[in-house]
Amino acid sequence: MFRKVDVPILGMVQNMSVFVCPNCNHNTHIFGSEGVPLECRKHGIDFLGDVPLHASICRDADRGKPTVIAEPHSPRSKAFNDIAERLLLKLDIAGN
Ligand SMILES: [Zn+2]
Repeated sequence: MFRKVDVPILGMVQNMSVFVCPNCNHNTHIFGSEGVPLECRKHGIDFLGDVPLHASICRDADRGKPTVIAEPHSPRSKAFNDIAERLLLKLDIAGN
């Protein structure tokens, strides 16, 4: 659809790709893990990364503190930072 209306596509993100159990940290791929990467390969679009389904991401957003600020050293922050890093590389502005 975006290609039809000439909107550039930087890549795709797989949101809620894995459920992280708040009790034991077990990871469950509720919707499977290959849906978005497969679509990316099919359409020649870069896959930018996964954002987990985790209660604290919702909680952080609801209280106005993004996870990367609220829990900067968590695996959840790393997920967002990895995506941002890939975007910076794509836009060729990394390190600026
Ligand atoms: Zn559990």
